[in-house]
Amino acid sequence: MNVQLKSHDKEAMPMATDTAEAVPVTVAYGDGIGPEIMNASLKVLEAAGARLALEPIEIGEQVYLAGHSAGISSDAWDSLRRTRLFYKAPITTPQGGGYKSLNVTVRKTLGLFANVRPSVAYAPFVATRHPGMDVVVVRENEEDLYAGIEHRQTDDVVQCLKLISRPGCEKIARYAFEYAKAHGRRKVTCFTKDNIMKLSDGLFHQVFDEVAAEYPDIVNEHWIIDIGAAKLADTPEDFDVIVLPNLYGDVLSDVSAQIAGSVGLAPSANIGADCAMFEAIHGSAPRRAGQDVANPSGLLLAGVMMMVHAGQPDVAQRVHNAWLKTIEDGIHTYDIFKPGISERQVGTSAFADAVITRLGETPAKLPPVTYAADARPFTVPTAGPRRTANKELVGIDVFVQSTAPVTQLAGDMRHADNGAVELAMITNRGVKVWPDGLPETFCTDHWRCRFLAASGQPFDHAAIVGLLTRLAEAGIDFIKTEHLYTFDGEPGYSLGQGQ
Ligand code: NAD
Repeated sequence: MNVQLKSHDKEAMPMATDTAEAVPVTVAYGDGIGPEIMNASLKVLEAAGARLALEPIEIGEQVYLAGHSAGISSDAWDSLRRTRLFYKAPITTPQGGGYKSLNVTVRKTLGLFANVRPSVAYAPFVATRHPGMDVVVVRENEEDLYAGIEHRQTDDVVQCLKLISRPGCEKIARYAFEYAKAHGRRKVTCFTKDNIMKLSDGLFHQVFDEVAAEYPDIVNEHWIIDIGAAKLADTPEDFDVIVLPNLYGDVLSDVSAQIAGSVGLAPSANIGADCAMFEAIHGSAPRRAGQDVANPSGLLLAGVMMMVHAGQPDVAQRVHNAWLKTIEDGIHTYDIFKPGISERQVGTSAFADAVITRLGETPAKLPPVTYAADARPFTVPTAGPRRTANKELVGIDVFVQSTAPVTQLAGDMRHADNGAVELAMITNRGVKVWPDGLPETFCTDHWRCRFLAASGQPFDHAAIVGLLTRLAEAGIDFIKTEHLYTFDGEPGYSLGQGQ
């Protein structure tokens, strides 16, 4: 054994004795079903000859409750920065309270920008309506609404910032095409909602198109997310690799895994330039904890991906084929057990034992997998140099809390006009309500008042300070501002009509 595990409820887990070759990996047993499926997965990897030096860390619920609000201690970070390889069981994110999601924190802190989630159908051995399904979701993992920047701004309204960056889009789009190239995939599809979010999702789509042009041998296409998701749920065989922003990827990778057979089967690789983390896509399933019933397959297949990453494709191949043979032999956990299809229902540890018994075997009906002896992860793409534009300040959106009628609010706001800057419009939840609003429009207490520089007048930070000073003197309760810029003459802000 390379590292003595802290025991408590976990079985001490020996690994390959050849420590010279052993790859250090940080291991977290997680919460809920986590310890059971991690023990089962490590047992299979060990039996298959994995050369790993395990560094166990404590993260998750107990660490939150011990007072680390991030759910992770500094010792654990030290281990992660040392090994740069993380095998992680699911953890429970306490709901409510001030706790942040540790999963999101780890992914972002370690720069794990690509979340690769394959969903494969194992028909006829696992029931599915989509026997031909073999989809890989490449989810952007660091940006979007997962920045976790939220504010309550008025009595009525809270907001969550959706942040999308050009380097973030470039890295994930390029990763998706590099992944497709490395795995012999024919097509990369992008999903966004850029008919509504023209700037944020618009940037994701635009950069996808730019990157796609660098890969003429791979088909590319874009779908609006709503119809794309419907089509994925209906005919997943039409998709191959799908790249999408964080939130859509989170949702659709679960859908994808479930329609392929079970969320319990799907692994995930979180990849960055310096570190990588491997986990199941599902959570800690607390209701199933401690019963030895959970399916360890998602975490085990994540272990297969990790063994390729760690330069041990021989182990990955042995485990993956033995796992396929187990599935094919009908040895199934409760989530995929179906009378008439399955042979025997087993629990977590018996499933692991069944895989171990089959090490060295290959499936007879499902296609066996082969990992080339020199299989290694491809070079993680980086973003190109930053593009600087000619940025010009042309106005400001002043957000105001008010329960006054909009005509009165407009009158109050116009007191701040001074010839250099003019009130151009007021919107409520993105709908224009002044000038020329409709009485039918429902209004909250959260108003966006757009001031634009008067024609030919300069506008700068001093003008903004002057405007806000006049608004404060008039007793206006402004609660936030957004500057309006053009970039190379193009408006860098939405026009505010709503859709
Ligand atoms: P979940 O994925 O934990 O479980 C939902 C249901 O799916 C379970 O009740 C169970 O019926 C089934 N299921 C999930 N995994 C299974 C498995 N391996 N074998 C058999 N059945 C399985 O989702 P949830 O209940 O929404 O979340 C529970 C907790 O997990 C929450 O605290 C959540 O924040 C956390 N979570 C963690 C991760 C992670 O650590 N990466 C991911 C998602 C959710």
